[in-house]
Amino acid sequence: MANETSTQPAPVHSMDEIVALCRRRGFIWQSSEVYGGINGFWDYGPLGTELKRNLKNAWWSDVVTCPPDGPDGRPLQIVGLDSTIIMNPKVWEASGHVAGFNDPMVDCRQSKARYRADHLVVLQPAEGATNADTPWYAFVEGQLDSIAKKLKKAKVDPEACQQVPLPELPVASYARIIGPDADKPGTLTEPRQFNLMFETWIGAVRDEDSRAYLRPETAQGIFTQFWNVVDTSRVKVPFGIAQVGKAFRNEVTPRNFTFRSREFEQMEIEFFIPPDAAAEWYPWWRDNRFAWWQSVGLAGDNLQLREHEADELAHYAREGAGTSDIEYRFPFTAPGFGELEGVAHRTDYDLRQHAEHCGKGDKLRYFDTDRNERYFPHVIEPSAGADRGTLALLCEAYTPDPDRPSGVYMNFTPRMAPIKAAILPLVAKDGMPEVAENLYRQLRRRWPVQLDVKQTVGKRYARMDEAGTPYCFTIDGQTLEDQTVTVRHRDTLEQQRINIDQVPSFLEQKIEG
Ligand code: ATP
Repeated sequence: MANETSTQPAPVHSMDEIVALCRRRGFIWQSSEVYGGINGFWDYGPLGTELKRNLKNAWWSDVVTCPPDGPDGRPLQIVGLDSTIIMNPKVWEASGHVAGFNDPMVDCRQSKARYRADHLVVLQPAEGATNADTPWYAFVEGQLDSIAKKLKKAKVDPEACQQVPLPELPVASYARIIGPDADKPGTLTEPRQFNLMFETWIGAVRDEDSRAYLRPETAQGIFTQFWNVVDTSRVKVPFGIAQVGKAFRNEVTPRNFTFRSREFEQMEIEFFIPPDAAAEWYPWWRDNRFAWWQSVGLAGDNLQLREHEADELAHYAREGAGTSDIEYRFPFTAPGFGELEGVAHRTDYDLRQHAEHCGKGDKLRYFDTDRNERYFPHVIEPSAGADRGTLALLCEAYTPDPDRPSGVYMNFTPRMAPIKAAILPLVAKDGMPEVAENLYRQLRRRWPVQLDVKQTVGKRYARMDEAGTPYCFTIDGQTLEDQTVTVRHRDTLEQQRINIDQVPSFLEQKIEG
């Protein structure tokens, strides 16, 4: 949920412009768009697929293949897992999701719209304190503009109003609230629980016994296979299990582009530690994960780390268990922030729950050979969203520049850029296309690169600026004479000549170095 903790100005560019670029250049489209789309579901086009894959690959490489040393100075042990989306429904009873995975929601009797109660904010005009007939105006957090007309007509100045989150108001006061899409007060229902898990049925018969769920998080696949991993992988606590995969939540109000989708991808680590080791590992993971998001390009002050208040802690958290969010200031949350990743000390809640629910109880305690004792390990869980991460990369990279033909360029880091380089023959004659194709064939073995022969070179540069391609190599008349090419740097527009033989090492150093 967006959270307003900063007073810094919003980024100048609007979300509409970013969404338009994503559509135009094939980063992200509505799912089933030819049929009018489907609310809360998004497809990634060719550029978006590469961008999201780069983010997921970087995550896998930096947390599983080659993680940093832990707080004890030892190389971290983390292994991968790929568990199913549909699991035995008892998993979700044990995890607490069947009973507790609810969002309170309110319906509008007039517009039939449905909102998450904790997403609604109510504007209270100052005179409302004394006059009980003065209506209050609800709007969806971050979307005050959507009720601007209504406020203008009623001569209400939002600047002179107090903003109160709906859950903080007594239900008795709903009678005076005008809903975001209503024009009269008293149409909002009181908040009701709504289970966010998508249901399905297994086999031919649809009844209670065949009911199953699409997983709302990847974590439970990890917890239920914890014992198999321990038995087969020679891992010893402290160690982690990592998984990237789809999760599904029937969000009440999917919105803000891909930020709140109904189908999305998570990148989760469950890091198992001795019960008394959270003070050592929790801050290490929190700071390490924050630094990772900086390393993929969210290095400015649009990224923040926020430690949870005690009343925000999740259902599994016990007193003293830390939880923090790594948050990004999206254009639609500004000046507030939206969550990219949660880092939580989940205690031993999940392993204990599964041990109890599967009937094996204490027999499933982990045996620590170093300490010569049995226990349920505690868990530090860094749980990140690949789609929210990709969206943050897109928002951060979007750089308007009126002096360029494209009017904008995407300044992804070379590691995240969907296309690493373009190879452009200046003109499609005089042997230039042949030299360009040779270079292209050589580079494509190692990186996603593009050969673009047609149109003026200016138009081709403009296309690469919008795709966020950091380098363009241009083959011109001089190349044929002295074997040099021009490198155009996307951000500075600087041009330099290097030998054509040096292009692979140049790219390697920029992307991997
Ligand atoms: P929120 O409060 O925004 O609903 P959450 O706290 O429920 O998020 P978690 O359960 O901690 O989210 O999930 C971990 C990560 O999964 C989030 O940090 C986010 O990046 C991603 N995520 C969760 N829900 C969605 C969603 N509906 N669409 C896209 N990504 C999501």
